[in-house]
Amino acid sequence: MDQLRDFLAQHPHIHHASPSSPDFETLREAFVIKPTVPAMIVRPRSAEDVAGLLGVLKENNLPFTIRVGGHDMFGRSQVQDAITIDLREIAYIHVDRDNLSARVGGGVLFVDLIKELSRNDVAVPHPLVATVGYVGWATHAGYGLLTPKFGLGADQILQAKVVDAQAVVRDADEDMLTAIRGGGGAVGVIVELTIKVYPLEQILAGFLVLESSDLPATIRRYTDAYRQQSEEGLPAELNLQPSVLNGPAGKAMAVFFVWASSDITAGQKWLSKVNTWSPVVMSTVAPTTVAGFHESIKDVLPKAVYGHAFTVNFHEFTPEVVEVISKHALLQPGDPATLISIHQLRDCAPEPVEKSVFGTRCPHFVLEILPCVLDKNKLDETVAWGNDFYNDMMRIDTENLLPSTFLALTETSKVNMRKIYGQQYETLARLKKQYDPGNLFKLALVQL
Ligand SMILES: Cc1cc2nc3c(=O)[nH]c(=O)nc-3n(C[C@H](O)[C@H](O)[C@H](O)COP(=O)(O)OP(=O)(O)OC[C@H]3O[C@@H](n4cnc5c(N)ncnc54)[C@H](O)[C@@H]3O)c2cc1C
Repeated sequence: MDQLRDFLAQHPHIHHASPSSPDFETLREAFVIKPTVPAMIVRPRSAEDVAGLLGVLKENNLPFTIRVGGHDMFGRSQVQDAITIDLREIAYIHVDRDNLSARVGGGVLFVDLIKELSRNDVAVPHPLVATVGYVGWATHAGYGLLTPKFGLGADQILQAKVVDAQAVVRDADEDMLTAIRGGGGAVGVIVELTIKVYPLEQILAGFLVLESSDLPATIRRYTDAYRQQSEEGLPAELNLQPSVLNGPAGKAMAVFFVWASSDITAGQKWLSKVNTWSPVVMSTVAPTTVAGFHESIKDVLPKAVYGHAFTVNFHEFTPEVVEVISKHALLQPGDPATLISIHQLRDCAPEPVEKSVFGTRCPHFVLEILPCVLDKNKLDETVAWGNDFYNDMMRIDTENLLPSTFLALTETSKVNMRKIYGQQYETLARLKKQYDPGNLFKLALVQL
């Protein structure tokens, strides 16, 4: 630690906080509240700062993690007594409207990215929660609201600037980019990404709250209609993300609706159709921008929770799946932070980039069971609900289950990298060996 302190004394512009610093608690805060106390939080401002810092940590065998949005559901971006490299001061965004790309710093949060892109009338696939970090989201998969039209986050990455395992700043070559598209920070600290952006001035978006006095019946009606419509055809512009949440008026099924096109009239027609699937008691869907939509939903989901997550990938909304979801939706505890949410990768999404290690490329649903709570006393019973729900899902027809899970929401003890990366596992393992043979990045989310 003395060498690290010397380095920081020689680089006074790099802000750092130790557990006794007045701002340590604020900097330590993350989405999931954990007691983990890192030895120090260091906030480099540039790629060169990261390289200098990494050199000192490497030479002195000091363990470190990378943290940006702090949305790892299991708090793995901060480790007890390790150094947290907090990249949030590397947060520049340069939009190149002519080439439809943007250069973003490794510490950018969606909340800032979305606003800057909307100012330029462009957009990227993005999650519902804008406090998530862009790089952590995109490099581990990147399921998003515009994914049916534009693809997964991993497929948006054009170039990367990385501080590698030699503590040197470099532009990622093709092999390294392959590892970054799906492998997160396994081979380096990503200090900049160049990503694709898409012209999109206006969207039609908001959420629908469905009449839920008989919740299983509501879930059945909605999923039946959705399945039928999927068979008949769903335009890539339309994304629907169903959830069961505990709102002010009680537990209800809600559907986040996003029409990713400035042809609002066509979107209104689809909205009218979706409105007939199951009675709607409240709708916020309106013409807006991506930034406007995020502003409107920013208070719907909590900012910090006690919690856990379970996730299951499946192929089809079969009656069996709907029955399990309905059963546990009914049992879902009432804390405002407890949630069920379902992402989907549809076959209408653009062809994936070939040079990527993200393994789950077939069309599928990602069921997120989120036993999160604001009231810590309710955590155990809520996690027990999540666990029962997960176990029931794991008993469904195995043909309908995918072997992989969504890494970001899979607890460490359930992580099986061979299953998660499937056919891409060997490529990832080879690239890890090639770029980080000494396993400097051993506390990255992707650990082989
Ligand atoms: C409320 C919530 C909503 C979410 N919604 C979605 C969603 O809609 N779609 C989806 O696909 N995922 C979603 N996720 C999962 C999320 O994308 C991942 O957990 C992601 O890794 C979070 O990134 P972060 O920077 O916010 O988190 P952090 O906890 O700060 O980082 C997580 C890990 O990412 C790696 N990492 C992050 N940035 C870098 C970098 N610059 N260089 C190297 N490594 C880095 C590190 O290994 C780090 O440990 C959600 C998670 C939460 C909690």
